[in-house]
Amino acid sequence: MKIIMLGAPGAGKGTQAKRIAEKYGIPHISTGDIFRANIKEGTELGLKAKEYMDQGLLVPDEVTIGMLLDRIHQADCKNGYVLDGFPRTIPQAESLNKALADMGEAIDFAIDVDVPDENIVNRMGGRRACLKCGATYHVEYAAPKADGVCDACGSGLVLRDDDKPETVQKRLTVYHDQTQPLIEYYKGQGVLHSVDGTQAMEAVFESITGILGA
Ligand code: ADP
Ligand code: AMP
Repeated sequence: MKIIMLGAPGAGKGTQAKRIAEKYGIPHISTGDIFRANIKEGTELGLKAKEYMDQGLLVPDEVTIGMLLDRIHQADCKNGYVLDGFPRTIPQAESLNKALADMGEAIDFAIDVDVPDENIVNRMGGRRACLKCGATYHVEYAAPKADGVCDACGSGLVLRDDDKPETVQKRLTVYHDQTQPLIEYYKGQGVLHSVDGTQAMEAVFESITGILGA
């Protein structure tokens, strides 16, 4: 099963993708997580990505597409995957489609997690991330057991630089300009499904499993 998560930054794509990956036994692939891991390790890719991420801009397609295509050709992807944060531009979607078509494959589901901009600002301002293991929390809706400490690995939690209010607005503008057109793109491919992302996390997950099946 090959699934794409669509939706604004902070809509809940990562939260749902982790649960989908667990339920269906497929890898969760987040391009944002891959970039953050590279930044932490100080790789050349990380240095390049950071320039754009800190400004709320997209990392250029020529960097992002090759990285994602390498990842989906790895052995653990043979039974499918859930993509979180990719594609974010039409050229990314077209490259993915072409790479899949070359293998005789296609995307099965594109799930749009629909959340209006006014809710996004609150979601991202309250998000706390563990940069060590990738776990995500929310100070109000998904609080860790101990304040500021990751339940999963015990590391300190941070407010991501790109979740600061001044950057969030920029990321939303970029989303509407460059990523939202993918909703029509996948509608045209007959694989688009929308869920109301303003519901509680559990209800959003139920809506998604209703689409994906048991
Ligand atoms: P994305 O991957 O789309 O950027 P996340 O999954 O990281 O978004 O969610 C953004 C923030 O909102 C996180 O702090 C997360 O805990 C919280 N969140 C996710 N889904 C919901 C929900 N349905 N209701 C309330 N808060 C949510
Ligand atoms: P995310 O963790 O998905 O919110 O992504 C964080 C940041 O990483 C984004 O704001 C972009 O700067 C960058 N990024 C992640 N995925 C992509 C992508 N598919 N294309 C371009 N930039 C991306």
